[in-house]
Amino acid sequence: MLSAQKMEKFAELAVTIGANMQKGQEVVIRCDVNCQEFAHLIAKKAYELGAKQVLMQWRDEQLSRLSMLHADTETLCDIPEYTIQQLQYFIDHKCCLISISAGDPNIYKGCDPEKLAKVNVASSKAMAEFRKATMSNYLRWTIVSVPTAGWAKQVFPNDPVDVAIDKMWDSIASIMRLNEEDPVEAWRKHIATLHRRADFLNAHNFKYIHMTSANGTDLKVGLAKDHLWLAAEEMGQDGLKFTANMPTEEIFTAPHKDHVDGVVKNALPLVNNGNIIDGFSLTFKDGKVVDFSAETGYEALKGLLSTDEGVLHLGEIALLGKNSPIAESGILFYNTLFDENASCHLAFGKAYPTTVKNGNDKTKEELQEMGVNDSLQHVDFMVGTKDINIKGVGFDGSETVLFVDGEWVI
Ligand code: ZN
Ligand code: ZN
Repeated sequence: MLSAQKMEKFAELAVTIGANMQKGQEVVIRCDVNCQEFAHLIAKKAYELGAKQVLMQWRDEQLSRLSMLHADTETLCDIPEYTIQQLQYFIDHKCCLISISAGDPNIYKGCDPEKLAKVNVASSKAMAEFRKATMSNYLRWTIVSVPTAGWAKQVFPNDPVDVAIDKMWDSIASIMRLNEEDPVEAWRKHIATLHRRADFLNAHNFKYIHMTSANGTDLKVGLAKDHLWLAAEEMGQDGLKFTANMPTEEIFTAPHKDHVDGVVKNALPLVNNGNIIDGFSLTFKDGKVVDFSAETGYEALKGLLSTDEGVLHLGEIALLGKNSPIAESGILFYNTLFDENASCHLAFGKAYPTTVKNGNDKTKEELQEMGVNDSLQHVDFMVGTKDINIKGVGFDGSETVLFVDGEWVI
């Protein structure tokens, strides 16, 4: 367990560096019932810092599992109107959002993957407006994580649950820079380093990024027209900065949806809807997955890739070095927020409109033309092995080495 003082600092980071809550603003905390304690600490901090009101959006993963096992597909796909209205309220009131992501990676173990995929599509459709509000930065939002029993047991299966939770807290403390004298200041420094690299990449305006590693990855990822490399802090549509992912180590942009060619293999397992997909390989031609295989979770991967047309194209390329605190911890967290910060990654599906210049002002058609992908899904998968080499290739054919053996050289 963290000291009370570090816990408070953690809550403060979420409210300040994360959501950048403003005095008089409404705050929504979105989390599972098993994270109640930390949610209340965030609520307390938010009120101390001048929140107008703190609203809770509780989830209950145990109930979700029971429903997935026992309710029929049609019922589960009929998303109640009141849940959509609740999300609309958050948009209308320009709430800032703080999510606590701490799900049990195995929560849907043994559930029908086809049913899961269908329910996931239905809920993605119902949440389309809300997702637009977050992905376009209309709302400021952040995600943080705290250990829970199910999650800690997945990460440290050989330890008793109390020990596993303690180990999780230890690693989260160092990853979140809570052991620094002034965690808020440490975060500001970290953010500055990431932004320096993003500026370098933007100044070069590469045509494509070429990734190779010994496992067989040899992939050219074309970049969208007028793409922007982003990191850490993003700009909300209201002109206020916020940090969506905490932790964050990545620098990311929009691939060109029609210019990705070659083969890519995963470097870490992908956990999707409680299913673990591993040992997979994807072949791209003209931006589209034309072939795939998986040693583990093939059906789950197939389910994911059948969501819609857009999911077969890429919506994100993100670069980060193997010496990030998360990668160095050597722990597989089975949680995207952490694992995506352990390794360079790509995402199936929707691209963030903010990853191209003036993306939020573009129509759907304009974004398509620039190569910005659209889909109901946005699912990250890790490709950054410890030996990955990465180059940026310019429109004149010039090459700039960005990564040697898994680490930045710029
Ligand atoms: Zn990412
Ligand atoms: Zn992503």
